[in-house]
Amino acid sequence: MSHTRKKDIRTCKQCLLRDFDKALYEEQIRVYIDRLSDSDKADAAEYEKRLSLCKACESLLEGTCLKCGCYVELRAAGKRGRCPAKKW
Ligand code: SF4
Repeated sequence: MSHTRKKDIRTCKQCLLRDFDKALYEEQIRVYIDRLSDSDKADAAEYEKRLSLCKACESLLEGTCLKCGCYVELRAAGKRGRCPAKKW
């Protein structure tokens, strides 16, 4: 078979960024956030405020915080999530 279906693409901790299917990766992040319980999830306004601060931060690189190595959309999603630079 000459084509690869989207769900057949697998990445692992030894994959390079160029190996990632960006759309699939974003979907996996979204699924992870959606599975957080309401009691563990930051409310929508707080989440957007955090991401706005990240977007203006010099430590953001391609969705990753250079201070802690986290994907900021995941880190900001948790109610108890904290910015390592104390911006939120
Ligand atoms: S988590 Fe904090 S230090 Fe990291 S990118 Fe966001 S605002 Fe910047």
